[in-house]
Amino acid sequence: IEKAKILDANGMRRSLTRIAHEILEKNKGVEDLILVGIRRRGVPLAERLAQLIQDIEGTKVRVGKLDITLYRDDLTALGDQPVVHGTEIPWDIVGKRLVLVDDVLYTGRTVRAAMDAIVDLGRPQYIQLAVLIDRGHRELPIRADFVGKNVPTSRRELIHVKLTEIDGEDEVVIMEN
Ligand code: 5GP
Ligand code: MG
Repeated sequence: IEKAKILDANGMRRSLTRIAHEILEKNKGVEDLILVGIRRRGVPLAERLAQLIQDIEGTKVRVGKLDITLYRDDLTALGDQPVVHGTEIPWDIVGKRLVLVDDVLYTGRTVRAAMDAIVDLGRPQYIQLAVLIDRGHRELPIRADFVGKNVPTSRRELIHVKLTEIDGEDEVVIMEN
């Protein structure tokens, strides 16, 4: 059952535009910057941020991809063992400034797995994290540098992130089973 709309298309665009500015401010430009989207929905978000950054700075930013699967221990709850299946980061990342991009930050285990995979490729100068929604309930000492919206949730709730590229529309809603 849908409980509330958290972001509509305009709200999402404004959040991403703000995050693009914040990424530029914090990194003092785009030099050595690489965005890395976590599939699936982190990828279109990273591509949008790259386009927004290009609109602002006039410089292209590279977008890599990480494929992480959360093994489920039952049909509804997510498993707590995120495993990286594939990386599409075909550049030398040593010394680069990486920004991981995901749709929802929850326990933090996905991001931990992503960082594991990245440091296996090389030693970036640093890794930052951008998420559209932070729903709380961290189980690891991980926080986001850039957040579209903080949404306090109960564990029973589910955030449904819809993106035009995948779902045909831009919207974030909160659901309760
Ligand atoms: P974590 O590993 O932090 O627990 O969960 C992060 C990953 O699980 C993200 O890639 C995100 O897509 C997914 N996720 C966790 N909670 C939610 C949620 O409420 N809604 C959606 N759409 N994805 C979630
Ligand atoms: Mg995701």
